[in-house]
Amino acid sequence: KTFELQKFVTAPTVTKDGTKVTLRSNIGLRSDVDVAIRSGATGVGLYRTELPYMARSSFPDRQTQYEIYRHVVEGFAGESVTIRTLDIGGDKSLSYFKTPAEENPFLGWRSVRVSLEHRDMFRTQIEAILMAAVHGNARIMFPMITNLDEIVACKEVLAEAKANLAAEGFKVPEIPVGMMIETPASATMADRLAKEVDFFSLGTNDLVQYILATDRGNPRVGHYYQSLHPAVLHAIASLVDVTQRHDIGLSICGEMVSDPATFALLVGMGLREFSASSPAILPLKAMLAQQDISQLKRLASNALNCDSAAEVLAIAEEAIGLQV
Ligand code: PEP
Ligand code: MG
Repeated sequence: KTFELQKFVTAPTVTKDGTKVTLRSNIGLRSDVDVAIRSGATGVGLYRTELPYMARSSFPDRQTQYEIYRHVVEGFAGESVTIRTLDIGGDKSLSYFKTPAEENPFLGWRSVRVSLEHRDMFRTQIEAILMAAVHGNARIMFPMITNLDEIVACKEVLAEAKANLAAEGFKVPEIPVGMMIETPASATMADRLAKEVDFFSLGTNDLVQYILATDRGNPRVGHYYQSLHPAVLHAIASLVDVTQRHDIGLSICGEMVSDPATFALLVGMGLREFSASSPAILPLKAMLAQQDISQLKRLASNALNCDSAAEVLAIAEEAIGLQV
């Protein structure tokens, strides 16, 4: 089986009848780069930069960050690498950066909210990303946006970072700017937010928890955490529509992508750019090679008429031949 999967490392990601899809990796640490390349990923759809921050005992300076990001960008030799700015808070903390205890950390001071209140730190990170971008094909992405003002503010800090680098004599690259859609607010405002960025990346780990009011890490309510809940699918469908109308990129990087039946359904819904954890990539490619796009589109339209996640899962598994 492993041997059979190996042939998919270099094979294109495509349905039996030729619909092309891009499958990238979610990475965090330097060591993830080789694993991702060996797994057949064509680039990185989500580079979680908080991981190198978490692995240290103090804030990495600009040069240190630059070297880490450069290693990743160069590792993918011209393939697209989407670098997400710091996303701490919620379940991710830094030992050297004290944050107040909160009753509801996932509804609290996390992610871009922290970055925008620590503008120097934020600008330094963005400068390091821009410096690394010269060495390959990088994109920058901002997490946890809930308000239009926030993405506007992030772009201001990006402009400051560019001006600083230019003043230091760097050649500043123009790179695509994107944001995560991982809150119900940004999903609902997508039509307006689409005018501000080059691409959206759907972060369904958080989007599902916020749409369904269910903590992503609490096993007591794990059965409420349903990635295929109709409310989630309808949100995704509307984002496909918005991004097609605005002609901006749409990628999806939540863990749900790793499930083959879910992946097949998402392709049927019109998504074409995916990012998953590396071990999931070859099995997904192998499964997709067995599917016809017309059948997946039919699956998608049936799924959008289902009343529950269980029903959606059943028809998706049946469609890819996991269940009869
Ligand atoms: C997400 O929320 O879906 C996501 C990809 O980001 P993270 O898991 O790092 O919160
Ligand atoms: Mg998230």
